[in-house]
Amino acid sequence: MLDPKVETRPWPEQHAIDDAAYRTQLDYLFDRSAFYRAKLTEAGLASAEVAGGLTEIGSLPLTDKCELRASCTPDNPIGAHLCCTPREIVRIYSTSGTTGTPSYVPLTASDLENWVTASARSYAASGITAGQRIVTTYNAGPFVAGAALAAFDRIGLCHIPLGTGNTERLMLAIDRLRPEAAVLTPSYAAYCIEWAAERGFDLRGSSVERVLVAGEPGGGEPAFRAKLEAGWGATVTEAMGIGDIGVSLWGECEEQDGMHLGARGFVHAELIDPETGVAVGMDDGAAGELVLRHLQHRAAPLLRFRTRDHVHVRTSHCRCGRTSPRVRCIGRTDDMLIVRGVNVFPSAVREVVSAFVPKVSGNILVRPRAPGVKQEPPLPVNVELARDATADATLAEAIRDRLRNVLVIQTHIDLVPWGSLRRSGYKSGLVEHALEGDG
Ligand SMILES: [Zn+2]
Repeated sequence: MLDPKVETRPWPEQHAIDDAAYRTQLDYLFDRSAFYRAKLTEAGLASAEVAGGLTEIGSLPLTDKCELRASCTPDNPIGAHLCCTPREIVRIYSTSGTTGTPSYVPLTASDLENWVTASARSYAASGITAGQRIVTTYNAGPFVAGAALAAFDRIGLCHIPLGTGNTERLMLAIDRLRPEAAVLTPSYAAYCIEWAAERGFDLRGSSVERVLVAGEPGGGEPAFRAKLEAGWGATVTEAMGIGDIGVSLWGECEEQDGMHLGARGFVHAELIDPETGVAVGMDDGAAGELVLRHLQHRAAPLLRFRTRDHVHVRTSHCRCGRTSPRVRCIGRTDDMLIVRGVNVFPSAVREVVSAFVPKVSGNILVRPRAPGVKQEPPLPVNVELARDATADATLAEAIRDRLRNVLVIQTHIDLVPWGSLRRSGYKSGLVEHALEGDG
């Protein structure tokens, strides 16, 4: 454990510390943030005292990414939530947005320090230790994931950065430099297994003992994880962050039962119902959209920021000794579809279909017919066959039945030949609306 004093602190003690930090941060926002001064005043909260402490946080308004974007001007391209002077900013990251225009994430020296500390705790939870070698495959330079790279230095690892898109060079480095760990997105980790199988590279027998996945949900789905662990002959754990709040805020420990909040003390986590926005208790077994707020941020702190990550929470005792809550990300609420009143995450569809490996490859594509979230059944799903497998009606029927039993949705299954679903080197999309694909 990187920081045992902090990481094993009893949670009620952490909560008391966080509550004090939160009140100070609210004062700071009223003092410096034009965005939050206006937003809170409009919500009838005229001062930090009125807003109260963490127990009352559920009554404060939520912050959406598009509100921040809308507050950008030519004079202030960062947004009205910027709280510090230009001279205090030591780094500005970009996050890619769906609109193509990046948002900027500024950090002061102490913000950056806290990001690296949190990220180092999260990655160290996987069991990697000082002196070991780690290959990374993130083209993270301009993006917030770049800060995670500093976390590997902090842990004391020998870092071998390789970037994305050259699997041959990655495998060569694994073969020659014999790293103990590799960091990849889950979809790239899956792609590497196929790549190695095609070329007779013994990935399973390689030096890599730990595969750390991050960058997209999926690394925690049991069947998908089992496939990664078998293909790499390694333990798989995951990490997760959100650009606007911090990099690798969460990191899974060796018990493999969800990601601990490595950013404890810097970030406060809560849950909401994604449809109503109503707060949901962070109790063991609870599920909802993750909402995060900074506790001691300086450059552009955020209050109740909607991450759009749908998570399951565990607060039961973890044998590793870390006392922070754990989460498992089920998917992005943006990817969620509602089929006749039933919430469906494409990653859950993939998880169910994975049970049919080796008849299928495990790759799927959900192809909703209508734009938007609400869909009429049956929901079309392309399921990729295993190499050399041929489509048969019984298999399609069995997959359809299983999806109906497990997820309670009607689907239309199209079995497609091996290799016909797009593999991305970085993140894989599991949903393609009919119009996007055909237009
Ligand atoms: Zn643990």
